[in-house]
Amino acid sequence: MSKLAVYAATDEASRGRRFKEDSPNYRSEYQRDRDRIVHSSAFRRLEYKTQVFVNHEGDMFRTRLTHSIEVAQISRSIARILSLNEDLSETIALAHDLGHTPFGHAGQDALNNCMKEYGGFEHNLQSLRTVDELEERYADFPGLNLTYEAREGILKHCSPSKAKQLGDVGERFLKKQQPNLEAQAVNLADEIAYNNHDVDDGLRAGLISIEQLTEVNLFNTQYQVVKSQYPKLQGRRLIHEIIRRMINELVVDLVETSQQRLTEAAPESVDQVREQTVPLIGFSDSMRERSLELKRFLRNELYRHFRVHRMTSKADRIIRDLFEGFMQDIKLLPPEHQETALRFESDFGGSGRALAVADYIAGMTDRYAIMEHRRIFDPSELT
Ligand code: MG
Repeated sequence: MSKLAVYAATDEASRGRRFKEDSPNYRSEYQRDRDRIVHSSAFRRLEYKTQVFVNHEGDMFRTRLTHSIEVAQISRSIARILSLNEDLSETIALAHDLGHTPFGHAGQDALNNCMKEYGGFEHNLQSLRTVDELEERYADFPGLNLTYEAREGILKHCSPSKAKQLGDVGERFLKKQQPNLEAQAVNLADEIAYNNHDVDDGLRAGLISIEQLTEVNLFNTQYQVVKSQYPKLQGRRLIHEIIRRMINELVVDLVETSQQRLTEAAPESVDQVREQTVPLIGFSDSMRERSLELKRFLRNELYRHFRVHRMTSKADRIIRDLFEGFMQDIKLLPPEHQETALRFESDFGGSGRALAVADYIAGMTDRYAIMEHRRIFDPSELT
């Protein structure tokens, strides 16, 4: 790795792990974090969890796994250009969606509704819970025992009430401080990745059209460039030429704006980055505006499209049925989850059962949730 900036995260400045371990011999601390994530079972399950489109809609669409890999690619580019810690940004990117429920945002909203009276369900918090508690891989500690910096980055958002219960990683939400720069880069790489791949997937699915998209400045700018350079270009190659230029324009704006802000603020350590009142990694004002315009377009034309709504409404029903079913009859849970539910009930009272059920449901892939729903509610499955 080339020389890191003074404000980059380093092994030496790390706040360490929850359970003390010897330093790795041939890897950095953050490389070890990344490797632990790649080998985790939650990471493998991302392959069968969706973003917008349900998995069986087709094999060409993004899943949470391919999304996370795209986010890692963009994050690493940004980190490298800004002399930040590429390994840490890759780690956070690969882990950022580990706590997502099946069925994308629809699943998250449904589970959050089910959990309302038990403290709610937050997917960022669940990602942290996955790496801190739920992964079962080591003899000496629960979870993956990641570094503070990786955990700080994974917990992107958090309500103040939850933050109070979290100790060190929760503090910044109460003090209104910033996470490390690598985490800030991942947040925006996430946005760049999903806006662009949702345009691509939406076009592929025929839910939105190029003509509609030319009303969006970010898209239209690159569409005009490609059209003037390759007037006859059509189909997939036209779309891809536009999208790759959009990603590039967003990343270039981001690194140039961030470089300028870093020069002005001149933080001399990660701790000084944390003390800033605003994130130092960001888009220029005009690019933020253009990115928001694209987001609005996708919300209105794609995420609210009736065909997408049919999928999300089904997803909502499946999650609700499963939650209610398990809450009413704990014996419907597989034995190990029953045990957990009983243990949580004695530890946390009434919300304990709900917590165990939410962990079980959040860990499901799309198709597992569909199968489990069928096994529990479909009478024809009796035979
Ligand atoms: Mg994401």
